[in-house]
Amino acid sequence: MPIELPSAFLDSLHGIPDMDLTAFTVALSEPAPVSIRINPAKKINPFEHFKTLEPSLVPWTQDGYYLNERPSFTLDPLFHAGAYYVQEAGSMFLEQAVKKVMQDMELKCVLDLCAAPGGKSTHLQSLLSSDALIISNEVIKQRQNILMENWVKWGAKNAIVTGSDPRDFQRLPAWFDLIIVDAPCSGSGMFRKDPDAISHWSPAHVEHCALRQERILEDVLPALKPGGYLIYSTCSYSESENEAMLDHLMKNFSMESIRIPLDSVWGIQETRSKDKGGYGYRCSPHRCKGEGFFLTLLKSKEAFESKDEVSYNKARGKSDLSIPMRVKNAWEDWLHIDEGETLMDWKGQLLIMNHTMEKYITEIQQNLYIRSAGIQVGSMGNKGFIPEHGLAMSGNMPESFPRFELETEDALQLLRHQSISAQINELGWILMTYRGHALSLVKSLANRINNYYPREWRILNK
Ligand code: SAM
Repeated sequence: MPIELPSAFLDSLHGIPDMDLTAFTVALSEPAPVSIRINPAKKINPFEHFKTLEPSLVPWTQDGYYLNERPSFTLDPLFHAGAYYVQEAGSMFLEQAVKKVMQDMELKCVLDLCAAPGGKSTHLQSLLSSDALIISNEVIKQRQNILMENWVKWGAKNAIVTGSDPRDFQRLPAWFDLIIVDAPCSGSGMFRKDPDAISHWSPAHVEHCALRQERILEDVLPALKPGGYLIYSTCSYSESENEAMLDHLMKNFSMESIRIPLDSVWGIQETRSKDKGGYGYRCSPHRCKGEGFFLTLLKSKEAFESKDEVSYNKARGKSDLSIPMRVKNAWEDWLHIDEGETLMDWKGQLLIMNHTMEKYITEIQQNLYIRSAGIQVGSMGNKGFIPEHGLAMSGNMPESFPRFELETEDALQLLRHQSISAQINELGWILMTYRGHALSLVKSLANRINNYYPREWRILNK
């Protein structure tokens, strides 16, 4: 069925170079492509796992794949195992910007300011080195849980989830090598996937979003190092949220626009901002296989002053995060700590983190609102070690740990928190796997199985 778009919206697109409104409207009336991004740490083979869906590479990525139709991801145990993330292909163009930055500098500390549900954050994590630190921030409280859930499933040890206001990052002046602002926007780029968004679109809403984007950028920029990079993106087609924001940054913050190399077969369009000629990149459904997405990359020339009075807490010395001996004896059967990682006792919870996080966590904790850090593996109870789901997802459990491989229906039953038909004869803690990938820890007792898959994440009604 042809899509009905508000005339004010179509009028607003007239100024965009090479915008073919007929081809655009036709493309929006077609089904949206389906795409996923593989978690390289979990090593699934997309050509085997999605064989019947004829996977093909999203050409601007190393791990993104189109599928020829949408399967029920909910009914795929490997989706819950964090083996892949379902993500719109256009927004995976982030990869090209991050790779461009990595040619120029080593990325040690990166902030993803508007991170929920975690598409850009987990993508970034797959691109950076394991000793980088990612602060994955989401200010809206209700959206922080899904962000934390996606991080647990991804199994990464180098991310801290924070729930701070953009302004709070001024307490960490000139701190980040790269800041990603995937800004809240008017959402026109998602019209095909979310037709309800069409009725919420208005020129006034676009202007409201543009003002909010300006404020968010101004608030966070003091946290960017001189010589550091900013990636700004939206899923809007509106010039005022995109190229005009690029002009705003170049004029008011004397930032330099950085060109990203393109392959013409991708169909991604390079645009120039009106006043300063900065480079923007647009994915539009009639030109490339994905939804509407805009991205621009800038480099800072100098440190930015914060406008607000902020108090910065410089962490003095390290807080005592050593592990008590009695805990030490208890966890050794449960996990191995790999090179570059540390096990920390954080207020009674054992966390696996990388050395960069270890170095900065106290300073971050004193300045931002931390929701989770690294991988929470468990705590000591009166009767011994109590594991967390993060441990099962981490890849840090030893090969020698008891495992039980499930068939598809039982794997789904486990994820539904319902009884499984397979007979488990072994008693004690067991790591349940599906096609070799960890799904959950269970405790096998004489007459029942206690399932430690988080109840709030269980599959409902399917
Ligand atoms: N980057 C995410 C991803 O790839 O999965 C999508 C982010 S979405 C486009 C924008 C995010 O900005 C939302 O999660 C929203 O809650 C958050 N947000 C809303 N208002 C905000 C504000 N005033 N400051 C910062 N973030 C805000």
